[in-house]
Amino acid sequence: MSVAVDPWTPGALAEHCESSLLQVQHVIDGELRDAHSGESFTSIDPMTRAPWAEVARGDADDADDAVAAARRSFDDGRWSGLGFAERGAILHRLAGLLEENADALAICDSRDMGKPVAAAIEQDVMRAALNLRFFADHARLSHGDALSMDSGHPAYTRYEPAGVVAAIAPWNFPLMLETWKVAPALAWGNTVVLKPAEDTPASATLLAMLALQAGVPDGVLNVVHGFGPASVGSALTESPLVDRITFTGESGTGRHIAAAAARNLTPVSLELGGLGANIIFDDADLDAAIPWSVRAIFSNAGQVCLAGRRLFAARAVYDEVVARLVAAAEELVLGDPGHASTDIGPLASEEHYDKVCSFLDGLGGAEGRILTGGAAGEGWFVRPTVVVDAPPDARINREESFGPIITVEPFDSEDDVVARANATPYGLNAMIFTESLRRAHRVSAALKAGTVWANCFFVRDLRAPFGGVGDSGIGREGGDFSRDFFTEPKAVVMET
Ligand code: NAD
Repeated sequence: MSVAVDPWTPGALAEHCESSLLQVQHVIDGELRDAHSGESFTSIDPMTRAPWAEVARGDADDADDAVAAARRSFDDGRWSGLGFAERGAILHRLAGLLEENADALAICDSRDMGKPVAAAIEQDVMRAALNLRFFADHARLSHGDALSMDSGHPAYTRYEPAGVVAAIAPWNFPLMLETWKVAPALAWGNTVVLKPAEDTPASATLLAMLALQAGVPDGVLNVVHGFGPASVGSALTESPLVDRITFTGESGTGRHIAAAAARNLTPVSLELGGLGANIIFDDADLDAAIPWSVRAIFSNAGQVCLAGRRLFAARAVYDEVVARLVAAAEELVLGDPGHASTDIGPLASEEHYDKVCSFLDGLGGAEGRILTGGAAGEGWFVRPTVVVDAPPDARINREESFGPIITVEPFDSEDDVVARANATPYGLNAMIFTESLRRAHRVSAALKAGTVWANCFFVRDLRAPFGGVGDSGIGREGGDFSRDFFTEPKAVVMET
C-alpha cells in the first residue's frame, strides 16, 4: 500500500494537533481502517484534559478481521519464508524509521498519557528501536542444539515460528512495551495483532504505518484499537486462530486472560504488576543510593511496574535516608510534559488520578504519615510523595498504587528485611544497596523477585530473563526466553 503519513510526518504532528483531532485508525492487512461499527472514542490529553485524538473503537469484528489477516499472512509464508537475514534487515530499517520519527512518536505517547516528551524519546522511542535491532540480531545469530545420541541417531532442535501472536499492551510505556512483544514475535517469523491500551493508541498506529514503510508485508503487523473486557481485548484472547498471547498489565486482568487462554490451550506470557522492595543497608553509598531510589519511584510519575515502592532503610541510616529522599522529592519539577525542564507530568488519566488519590486519602492516622507530596491541587498532578509509619498491612504496602508514592520503613537485621520484602504476593523486582559483595549475593538469592538490581536500577541486558514471581506474572521474556515463547521448538531425530 502507499503509506499516508501526513499528518504523521516528522514535524507535522504537533502543528496538526493544534487545529484538529488526530484520527487514529486500525491498521489491518496493510490498510488504515475505521472500526466496523463506525464508532470511535476520544483520547484525552492529561495535560489539557481535553480530547486530542479520535480513535477507532474496535470490537470483536475488528479483532476477527485483524486475526484473519495475521493468519493469512502467516499461512502463506510471506514473512516466515523470508528468512532471518531479510526479516532482520527490515526490522533494522523499521528501527531507523522510529529514530527518524522520534518526535512524532514521543508526542503521541506524551499527549496520550502525559509523560514528558524527552522521557518518551529516551525511554520509549529509542528503547523501541533497540528492541527491534536486538531481537533482529538475536534471532539471526541464535542456534539450536545438535544432540549426539548413544544410538548414533543424529538429533537436533529447530525453532519454528508459533504462528499468530496477540500482543496486548498497557499504557505506561506504550511504544517500549509494544515493541518488547512485537520485535521478538516478528524476528522469529510470526505475524502479530497488537492491541495497545485504550489510553495510548496513537503511537501504535504510527508504528504499524512505519513498519509497512520499512517493508513489513501487509497483514504481518496489525493494530486494533479498543477496550479490553467484552471488546477487542477479550476477542483476541478467545480466538482459536491465535497461537500465542503475550500480555502486560494488571495482575487482575492477567487472571482473566489466563482463563480465556486456557479454553483454547493457547500459551500465554503474563507480565503483571509489582510492589518492588528497595533495601538500603547501613553500609550503602547514599550518594548513589538516593538518586537511584528517587529514579526508581518517581520516574514516569511512579507509573512503573518496576517501581521501588517499599523502601526499607537500615535503622542507622533511616533518618538520613528519609531526609535526603524528601529533599530530592521536593526538587523534582512538575509541569507541562512538552517543556524540557519537566520531570513529572500529569497522571495518565482521570481514572488513574482518582485511583492514586484514593491511596492518598487513606493515609494519615494508622495507615501512615505523608512527609511531603500529595495531590497538587490542580489538574491530574500528584507531587512526589514520601510516606513513613505505614504498617505492613496498610493498603499502600499491600496494593500497587501505580503513582508517585513511596513508603519508607526502618529495619534492624538482614533476615528481618528479607522477610518483610518478601511478604507480598508480588515478585517482579527488588533493589538492594550495600557495599558488601557477600551480602549483595546473599540477599539477591533470598529475595522473591524476577529481577534484583544491586546498587542500580533498571539497567537491562535484553538477553536476561524478564518477568515476575507470584502475582507478578507467568513466564519470562528476553533473549532466548522470548525465542522459547514465540516459537515451537521441534526435535528432529534421524535413522541413518
Ligand atoms: P490493564 O490490565 O488495565 O490493561 C492492559 C491491557 O489489557 C490494555 O490494553 C487493556 O485494554 C487490556 N485488557 C483489559 N482487560 C482485558 C480483558 N479482559 N481481556 C483482554 N484484554 C484486556 O493494565 P494498565 O492499567 O494498562 O497497566 C498498568 C499495569 O500494568 C500495572 O499493574 C503495571 O504494574 C503493569 N505493568 C507490568 C509490566 C511488567 O513488565 N510486568 C510492565 C508495565 C506495566
